[in-house]
Amino acid sequence: MQETQKIRMKTVISAILISLLAMLSAACAAGTASNNAEQIHTASGEVFAMDTYMKITCSGKRSEEALEAAIAEIQRLDALLSVSGEESDINAVNTFGKAKISEDTAHIIEKALEISRATNGAFDISIYPIMRLWGFTDSEYRVPQREELESELEHVGFEKPIFTQDSLELGDAHGIDLGGIAKGFTSDRLMEVFDSYGMVSGCVSLGGNVQCYKRKTDGSLFRCGIAHPMYPDSSVYLGVVEVEDRAVVTSGAYERFFIDESSSKRYHHIIDPKTGYPAESGLSSTTIVSKSGMLADALSTACYVMGLEGSIEYWKEYGEDFDMILMTDDGDIYVTAPLAQSFTSSFHVNIIGE
Ligand code: AMP
Ligand code: MG
Repeated sequence: MQETQKIRMKTVISAILISLLAMLSAACAAGTASNNAEQIHTASGEVFAMDTYMKITCSGKRSEEALEAAIAEIQRLDALLSVSGEESDINAVNTFGKAKISEDTAHIIEKALEISRATNGAFDISIYPIMRLWGFTDSEYRVPQREELESELEHVGFEKPIFTQDSLELGDAHGIDLGGIAKGFTSDRLMEVFDSYGMVSGCVSLGGNVQCYKRKTDGSLFRCGIAHPMYPDSSVYLGVVEVEDRAVVTSGAYERFFIDESSSKRYHHIIDPKTGYPAESGLSSTTIVSKSGMLADALSTACYVMGLEGSIEYWKEYGEDFDMILMTDDGDIYVTAPLAQSFTSSFHVNIIGE
């Protein structure tokens, strides 16, 4: 039996958030200076949900109402999709093995399974029992024995859950975890909220997930700073990408990890479903830029597992829907060709697909 270690956990509020705040205050200043100053207001708010700080900003005539609706939607989805809580579809499935699920949950599951198939299982929501073994589900961190992982891996596999239109059954799986895709679905939904309230501009930052609605109020593009994995708390960025109407989602080991004091080894939260261990693919940061927040979220996690070569291969096949910015453990940066013009970095950048 493994000795229980005192384990330190650190949650990083990513540099993306810091850059977003600067960017949003600029948007706000521009909003009040515009011709419609008396009509277009910028509203912003923060909420803690899905285990992270979320910041929402939107501009329009009904921005306060839009903000309120956005926060209510975040709270509704948090309750629906978390691994605990009475209202959670996921909790119900994980507890009873089978449950009726809402349309929203069904939509996410369908997309998650599609991405699992396409990534050959690098993305796999049935990873839950492994997350639990490492203590990532309840913050009781520990390093599992290899045999424990091997035994639980028998219950992991995206083909195991049985999904019909409005119900989900675990089959041979032990549980599911939407932590790698739920925030992306949520940010997509917030774009719909902004749309329904006639916003002219908006931006949300849900942990490492940023999604921008249209452009900034002064007509310029949103500038998203991407956290440097070696200095995640600083203003040293890996680079800055300029976008409109896009999600910019980053996965990195620095976002959530613990240190095993007996070995001083760090263990992070992105698991390779083939081994049960934190992915060590040679990548230290994966950013996906896409119109779809949900796709960007799932793929940032998947690319982290697939590594540089695997991600490039995947992009060559499915790249019409997304672009990527990758950093290797050695600090080399790669960006896909269609995004190269919108990306600036003070480091050397390699272009994929030129
Ligand atoms: P992200 O921060 O978006 O990369 O997602 C990481 C979260 O996704 C973890 O905290 C887990 O909840 C979940 N997760 C970890 N590994 C995987 C995986 N290989 N496939 C799907 N979800 C995963
Ligand atoms: Mg993700």
